[in-house]
Amino acid sequence: MFKKVLVANRGEIATRIIRSCKELGIKTAAIYSEADSTALHVKKADESYLVGPGPVAGYLNIHRIIDLAKEIGADAIHPGYGFLSENPKLPELCEKRGITFIGPSSHAISSMGDKSMARKMMIKAGVPVVPGTDNIQSEDEALAFSDEAGFPIMVKATSGGGGRGLRVCRNKKELLENLKSAKSEAEAAFGSAEVFLEKYIENPHHIEFQILADNFGHTIHLGERDCSIQRRHQKLVEIAPSLILTEELRKEMGEVAVRAARAVNYSNAGTIEFLVDKEMNYYFIEMNTRLQVEHTVTEVVTGIGLVRKQIEIAAGKPLTLKQEDIAIRGYAIECRINAEDPKKNFVPNIGRVTAYYSPGGPGVRIDGCVYKDYVIPPYYDSMIAKLICSGMTWEEAISRMRRSLDEFVVRGVKTTIPFHYKIMTDEEFQKGEFDTGFLDRRQDLLDYKEHRSRTDLVIAISAAIAAYEGF
Ligand code: ADP
Ligand code: ADP
Ligand code: MG
Repeated sequence: MFKKVLVANRGEIATRIIRSCKELGIKTAAIYSEADSTALHVKKADESYLVGPGPVAGYLNIHRIIDLAKEIGADAIHPGYGFLSENPKLPELCEKRGITFIGPSSHAISSMGDKSMARKMMIKAGVPVVPGTDNIQSEDEALAFSDEAGFPIMVKATSGGGGRGLRVCRNKKELLENLKSAKSEAEAAFGSAEVFLEKYIENPHHIEFQILADNFGHTIHLGERDCSIQRRHQKLVEIAPSLILTEELRKEMGEVAVRAARAVNYSNAGTIEFLVDKEMNYYFIEMNTRLQVEHTVTEVVTGIGLVRKQIEIAAGKPLTLKQEDIAIRGYAIECRINAEDPKKNFVPNIGRVTAYYSPGGPGVRIDGCVYKDYVIPPYYDSMIAKLICSGMTWEEAISRMRRSLDEFVVRGVKTTIPFHYKIMTDEEFQKGEFDTGFLDRRQDLLDYKEHRSRTDLVIAISAAIAAYEGF
């Protein structure tokens, strides 16, 4: 097993990885920028190293990170998600320098990171994909596809991610306009202007399968997550298992997901994303070759620690779990708690956290990265915590989530907590009547009251006592 892991990330995921390393008796080294000197991951790691320059560049500097790993005697690097996790150069250089990359091969990352290439490989492997095109070279090509497939159509950036570089087109004029704007957005965001087209599926479910594969070709899936509650193609709430899959369809899609992973000789943890339409047809959309933000709900319903498995697999241990060992128990829901003001178009709301009280009790898990008096820096993701609640039934999981959101107190910045509370009390949501169009259709959910819980009363009283005693 590894002696020391360098965690090449920040925020809640860095903290999450450090926790698993501690459980495995592995020392951890954190990296941080000047803007992150007070961050929680720096406090939790055994060692921490300033990487610069600037707030973001240090987290992306592969050579510096690998040199550092060498200097400090780290034998492995965990990239988390975002930042370096989908950069095939990191595993490539790690291998050259004799450091283990905790993740898939650079070949798997580069072939799945290119969505057009991934589509081609999936078609070859017999995996259903959304009807679509190769990379678009001319307007004529795009117009020809629209004649053949009909509208609506989606323009997608070939190297896109994080919900960016996606455009829905309802007619030829929009198609030509969006082609141009998607290209320039993709060039700026991902360094490649390549785009392709897909038939736009109206209001599907986003259903993804968690894959685990070892270095010896043994590949299994850990069931699915429904991530249909999205805003601007970014997930806000994720649940496991899905409320709409039958046992037969779960089995079939799971087998297809395993086949998809095998097509790139995948090893370590990864996710196969599908869209499922109203007729329950399913289509591959992409593979994420890394740990997913919402891996937590799968951990809760399967009881399997995904980060632990990632580390064991990277260390060369065979995966002894068989497909038939995987059992799904109850339901889990994750709410992404972002420091944003939903009422102001979800604009990031950063600054000092003046009060922080996190919920607890049965069936509650928090993966977070803020604390009282922490000042949220403006340079990064606005996600400050993930609240995960589970129960033996869907109803129990929802009622726990409502209770926990009610207990959760974050003051000083606006958060998505009251918005999530509103979703959890919504009748359609409770009945499982949601798809990727849900939040767009239900703008009325933004009409919520700012939440004050009994904990606020306790905070106010203790502040008053403190002030009185000071007096
Ligand atoms: P998930 O892990 O569920 O797919 P996201 O799509 O939100 O979650 O992505 C996880 C994190 O990685 C987010 O911070 C997102 O902004 C970032 N991210 C995802 N894909 C890319 C990409 N291709 N380039 C840069 N950042 C990305
Ligand atoms: P990203 O890499 O940014 O995560 P994805 O291809 O995974 O991009 O798509 C993100 C989301 O966009 C999906 O979950 C879904 O809501 C929507 N989407 C993507 N492709 C389609 C499509 N062909 N039809 C309808 N919605 C789509
Ligand atoms: Mg995706």
